[in-house]
Amino acid sequence: MQSRIAALPVYTKKDMAEENELRYDPAAIEPKWQQRWAADPKLYAAEPATCGKPKYYVLEMLPYPSGQLHMGHVRNYSIGDALARHMWMRGYNVLHPMGWDAFGLPAENAALKNNTPPREWTLSNIAAMKRQMERLGLGYDWATEVTTCLPEYYRWNQWFFLRMVEKGLAYRKKSKVNWCPECATVLANEQVVDGCCWRHEDTIVEQRDLVQWFFRITAYAQELLDGLDKLEGWPEKVRTMQRNWIGRSEGTEVDFFLAEEIGQGLGTRDQGLEKTRIRVFTTRVDTIFGATSVQLAPQHALVAAFTASDPDLNEKVAELLEQQKKAREAGDLGEIEKHGVPTGHFAINPYNGARVPIWVANYILADYGTGAIMSVPGHDERDFEFATKYGLPIVEVIRPVQKTEGAEHLPFVSEEGVLVNSGEFDGLSCTDAQKLLQEVAARSAFGEATVTYRLKDWGVSRQRYWGTPIPMIHCERDGLVQVPDDQLPVLLPEQIEITQQGGSPLGRVPAFVNVTCPKCGGPAKRETDTMDTFVDSSWYFYRYTDARNANAPFDSETVKYWFPIDQYIGGVEHAILHLIYSRFWTKVMRDLGLVVNDEPARRLFTQGMVIKDGHKMSKSKGNVVSPDDMVARYGADAARTYSLFAAPPDRDLDWKEDGVAGVSRFLARVWRLTTRYAPVARAGRGESHPFRSERGKDGAPADQSTGVSLRLLRKLHQTIAKITLDFEGRWHFNTCVAAIMELVNEIQGADAQLAAGEVAPPVVLELLRTLVLLLAPFAPHLVAELWEELGEGGSVLRAPWPASDPELAREDELEVPVQINGKLVTVVRVAADADAKTLEAAALADEKVQGRIAGKTVMKVIVVPRKLVNLVVK
Ligand SMILES: [Zn+2]
Ligand SMILES: [Zn+2]
Repeated sequence: MQSRIAALPVYTKKDMAEENELRYDPAAIEPKWQQRWAADPKLYAAEPATCGKPKYYVLEMLPYPSGQLHMGHVRNYSIGDALARHMWMRGYNVLHPMGWDAFGLPAENAALKNNTPPREWTLSNIAAMKRQMERLGLGYDWATEVTTCLPEYYRWNQWFFLRMVEKGLAYRKKSKVNWCPECATVLANEQVVDGCCWRHEDTIVEQRDLVQWFFRITAYAQELLDGLDKLEGWPEKVRTMQRNWIGRSEGTEVDFFLAEEIGQGLGTRDQGLEKTRIRVFTTRVDTIFGATSVQLAPQHALVAAFTASDPDLNEKVAELLEQQKKAREAGDLGEIEKHGVPTGHFAINPYNGARVPIWVANYILADYGTGAIMSVPGHDERDFEFATKYGLPIVEVIRPVQKTEGAEHLPFVSEEGVLVNSGEFDGLSCTDAQKLLQEVAARSAFGEATVTYRLKDWGVSRQRYWGTPIPMIHCERDGLVQVPDDQLPVLLPEQIEITQQGGSPLGRVPAFVNVTCPKCGGPAKRETDTMDTFVDSSWYFYRYTDARNANAPFDSETVKYWFPIDQYIGGVEHAILHLIYSRFWTKVMRDLGLVVNDEPARRLFTQGMVIKDGHKMSKSKGNVVSPDDMVARYGADAARTYSLFAAPPDRDLDWKEDGVAGVSRFLARVWRLTTRYAPVARAGRGESHPFRSERGKDGAPADQSTGVSLRLLRKLHQTIAKITLDFEGRWHFNTCVAAIMELVNEIQGADAQLAAGEVAPPVVLELLRTLVLLLAPFAPHLVAELWEELGEGGSVLRAPWPASDPELAREDELEVPVQINGKLVTVVRVAADADAKTLEAAALADEKVQGRIAGKTVMKVIVVPRKLVNLVVK
């Protein structure tokens, strides 16, 4: 990064003199163009599907309206905007919208603090951020703006919710939930980070028993997992994070029988909770002959039955529970020091009738698998540790293939072995045994093969005000009743007192709560929970395609044209939350017949963070750089171009103000160069181009005398090729900007010849016109001004992206490195199309090479045409 800054053009006295003469003044140019753009709503508007152009949907993640853009936003939007502009110039019908993820807690906190209603606070923040975006010159189609806190949007959240209730995809149940005391609301599992709240990094999340609404995302667990394989345009790290989060594991559920109740009739199997069996989950059923105890989570239903008549045990279990709770709160459940207590009860292994003690242990989780495991100390590290500590037997049942006896190798956890001490299954490989044992369990009705997922259903109830009201009614006679579609939206009441004293603030608004039951007409009460704000962002990008539709969330035909999104751009911190939820939502909408695509976005790009002095920008670190400040000092074009130039977009960017200043000076050079020679360029319009119209027979340029022109055009067309290629895939915009800098250096280096009129006006026109086109995705204001200066009409966005002429871009000569025994000795200049023989001869004729090989034998010459010559010498 250091070297890139150093590579900036050097600022000379001559530059300074020129600058005074032709000053680049972004503060004058930029607002002027912003006004013109604002007066032309068609400029950035998407066209209807009938326009006949190929479509391109480029989208940056919508911001939360905090009231202030930060540099991370500027970077995110600069990447998207550059891409959108490039695609417009490539002739695409581009959809490039923007909106606001406008529900959420900060609005309520602000209301508590300043006594401003959340709606007012949010809308004024939106207005402020919109002004900032306009001041940055970002090319959004504001006609499609989406604001999620407005009834015209959230009514469709409610509509979707009702469809999901009808499909059994939204349901209500009592369960242990994550509770952030600071937020005074429930959090989804995805919003708990290392045991703490994602919004309050120091606040430990508590577990509470509450009746909550859930979305059945687990119904799509397998499809969400399988779909990742097809998302080749997504970063591998995001796909891996989602795979791990979904957490599929294959295994077996097996019933151990309770010793006391054997023979009294087994009843029906039911999630391992009945009084005669304990259902355990294991990924290694092949080791079941080595099970020497069964271990239960402290919350297991059976434990309650045991402790009811055993106060001593009850006390010990309470202790285990406390230990688990503490570890969970500290976020290090995996590291918990393992404790357990024997219950005094026994279970029977269904495969061999072995009687094993039942224990309760603090490291067994109620919400993983069945909340019960079999402990196999011979073949599991954790079980081994536990058995050693408490003196439980350790039995070998899997033996490495080469070994014949002895147990000193235990625990042996690999599946590369054969079964021993396992009765009729002895000698089987682990995988064969797993299959066979599963078959036996299924046949004998004491178990089955299962797949479990780490992914849990999405808890969407929030006990907060500033969110979408859940459109359900509680009637004493009818139970849960849906709000009829024609009564949507259920509006958020406007006048409301926000407090943080338990329960939803909506519950304290009688006018909201008390309703007439749509079914029986009797008095009933509205649901007072609101929806998680991740509901809003799960489908907002569909709404952009048809943002003013009052009869449906969107028109399916229009969505069919625009989806999937061609390029989605945002931060990697959304990998688990938003990016899983929105994939789920798309699949639900597909199954409702609203869309035909399986996935929302074909390609995803996650940009790096903007840091300063090695730290993430934050108020507490005092290292926040304000976009407004940068724009005021250097202009929007410089701030945007710098944010693309200073690092590859997928890496972190260390913000350096002298870097912005350097980019601003570079733009000033472009400005001076172009304005100075614009009259020559304009004169060149319509004149014949010496390297276009009068080619020699072999396709080579006819006029070989003007070496400067040719050199500049070569550089120009090489730059076009490079930038075009980058936009098509690599996105190394930093090297794109660097390439334009080199081009400008080269043109400036020919200033004497340009001034002397040695470069033909049509060539000057091509050079300057193309330079402006290449800069158009990065510095739109400067470019608009220069485009006009060159006498071009209309918007530069409607001008075709320049094509590289391979003939002109071709190098005449190349420098090829020569190595002797792998060490670089020299470089030789050869014709760019020199064959291996010519290259070898050139290398051997080189003075330095001759000096090194004198008196020695050249054993071998390796030639890679255009790249390398290596001599093997003895
Ligand atoms: Zn919180
Ligand atoms: Zn009713």
